[in-house]
Order: sequence, then C-alpha cells, then structure tokens
Amino acid sequence: MRSITTLDLQYAHRFFGFKGEAQYLHGHTGILTIEVEDSVEPGVNMVFPCNEIQKTAWDVLKNFDHALILREDDPLLPAILKVYEEQGIKDGAPHNQMKGPAFHTDLATAYPECRLVVTKETMTVEGMIKIVYDLLKDKLNIAKITFSSGVNKASEEFQTKNRIDRCPLCGIALNENGICPKCGYKKQ
Ligand SMILES: [Zn+2]
Ligand SMILES: [Zn+2]
Repeated sequence: MRSITTLDLQYAHRFFGFKGEAQYLHGHTGILTIEVEDSVEPGVNMVFPCNEIQKTAWDVLKNFDHALILREDDPLLPAILKVYEEQGIKDGAPHNQMKGPAFHTDLATAYPECRLVVTKETMTVEGMIKIVYDLLKDKLNIAKITFSSGVNKASEEFQTKNRIDRCPLCGIALNENGICPKCGYKKQ
C-alpha cells in the first residue's frame, strides 16, 4: 500500500533559451505529491506517517520555497547575484530563516543564504521530479512523485525496496541497530 503526502512550493524560474513566454522570469505555486510504498506496519496500521514524510521532504525542499531556481548557464544568475551582493543580502539576511541544509547533487545546488537553487537542466516539472527523487531516494521509500506547476504536470514511478523495519509505536523507520530514533523502541 502507499502513504501519500502533498506539499506546496512557491518559486520563480524561467526556461532559459525556450521559445515561448516561459523564457521570461515568472513564478508558480508548485504542488509536489510523494507516494511512499511498503507493507502496512501492523502496530500503527500505516505504511508510513504522512507528517513524517512531509517533515523529511520539507527539510530539504524548503530550499526551493520562496526561492529563485535558475539553470547554471543562465546569464541572469551572475546578474542577480550582483544585485544581491550590492544590496548586502547575498550571504544571508536576518529575515531569511526558512533555510534547509545546503545541498549539492549532480542535478542541483542549493544556496539557502540567498534562496537560490542552481540546476544543471531546465527546471521543468519533469526536471523537478528528477531533482526531488535524487534528494530523497535514500530517506524515503518513494514509489511515485508527481509535480504540477500551472498547467504543467508530470509524474514518475520508481522501484521501491519494501519491507523496511518500522516502529510499531510511531511508524517511522528503525535505524541500523533496530532502534526507533523518535521514541527509542527497540526491535526484539
Ligand atoms: Zn514556469
Ligand atoms: Zn517509535
């Protein structure tokens, strides 16, 4: 079975070099749906607690919220960094607090201090699914990701590695020693 959670991301981007309106900078509320698959853990009668999926995903993905997402070869990138620099907000600002840990993968690099994500490929809905899967595949047993943004929507299904040991009291994955990192339950 699957536990499914949805979260919103508000971001600005553009399709650099695309022949259409989307080559201009614009914004979206993107809706990301993550489906986690496994057996139902009988103790909690859940596959995985949805609030925990959300917490795990948001911890990384908040770097995309109220952020600017630009491709690495987009000439807007140095132009914007110059403005941020001159304004004194490139390396952070007191009210920029919704920061996740900076990440760097083959597909994307996050600069939380200035709410910027630099991508290797154009950040289409398809591109976002690749980035999200890459960031979360080792943290969640993801069966499917759907991302929609304006009229664009895409989804992809993934191979899962089921039968992960989960806590019968709170439903989250046990660590390598069979202990629940949340409540301390130990597998017998
Ligand atoms: Zn767009
Ligand atoms: Zn627990």
